[in-house]
Amino acid sequence: MSETKLIVWIDQDLCTGDGICEEIAPDVFQGRDDGLWVVKEQASHFGTDLLFDGAEDGGHGPDGAGGVARVPDSQIDIVVESAEECPGECIMIEPYDAELMANRGA
Ligand code: SF4
Repeated sequence: MSETKLIVWIDQDLCTGDGICEEIAPDVFQGRDDGLWVVKEQASHFGTDLLFDGAEDGGHGPDGAGGVARVPDSQIDIVVESAEECPGECIMIEPYDAELMANRGA
């Protein structure tokens, strides 16, 4: 199971929909049906698949600032690279926050 020091979320209001983030870090970013990108936690890293796309059924969580995904340690470098390359400057990376995680609604 992965450790995590960082969390990541996307401000979809600023996302241009080019998909660069998923090209760089496909374990953390995924395109949504509306052409915007969201974050996710993969079972291969955390034991359970969780997609922060705003859907309300099981395995999903809120999008935007409410949809924070843990970044696996093995993915930190490419998640940071994704944020640096993101033309919308809308990939937000923050230090792990246990309280925020407990209230993230997923
Ligand atoms: S790189 Fe940024 S702007 Fe492009 S799809 Fe990903 S989040 Fe959206």
